[in-house]
Amino acid sequence: MEDKIEEFKKIIDESSNIVFFGGAGVSTESGIPDFRSEDGLYNQKYDYPPEEILSHSFFMAKTEDFYKFYKDKLNSLKYEPNITHIKLAELEKKGKLKAVITQNIDGLHQKAGSKVVYEVHGSVLRNYCMKCHEFYDAEYVFSSEGIPKCSKCGGIIKPDVVLYEEGLDQDIWSGAINAIVNADTMIVAGTSLTVYPASSLLHYFHGKNLVLINKSETPFDNIASLVIHNALGKVFSNIWFLTQNML
Ligand code: ZN
Repeated sequence: MEDKIEEFKKIIDESSNIVFFGGAGVSTESGIPDFRSEDGLYNQKYDYPPEEILSHSFFMAKTEDFYKFYKDKLNSLKYEPNITHIKLAELEKKGKLKAVITQNIDGLHQKAGSKVVYEVHGSVLRNYCMKCHEFYDAEYVFSSEGIPKCSKCGGIIKPDVVLYEEGLDQDIWSGAINAIVNADTMIVAGTSLTVYPASSLLHYFHGKNLVLINKSETPFDNIASLVIHNALGKVFSNIWFLTQNML
């Protein structure tokens, strides 16, 4: 483990264009449940399976049930960024890290101070009226009674979150690809890389160092320059000394 951390530090030190790609594992250390992990949302009891509730057709047909689940399970406002979010924001400030690409919708990277964040699955922080497209923040949606409605036209407000059956935002997706194409180092963390299309992002990386940090093995372990099977917080808390030296 020590050796791997040293190697990780060395890679960061030698890189000038790092891109970070993270999955649910980045936020679980903040207390946010992972959709697919064993103790995650999928195993919690609800009237419908989460995968069904978080689909476009369910939102349209059973909006009230959708929001019951959504407000109960996806309210990230009460959570705080963890050491990984904070270290990534520091690395960006120092000019090392050029972009964070995340599958998470909780907005914790921005809360930690990151500026360039590509949220490929959207964000609970952005919400729009389906009729007049007026913007609403997360506080408005999470504190509303029942179905959140537009104060201007009465239309239903929909979170800017990519639901099942919905396509990805093409601008965000191409921004993410562009960041990866230009990177010299790509750090992939907290994702098992088994879910398409997120896993396909790795194919755009042609830089020097591919670093994989995940608790369990991933299908890409054999092509990575460095693989660390450990908790993210443990790994990132160790790059403290490096960032101190960079000040
Ligand atoms: Zn409206």
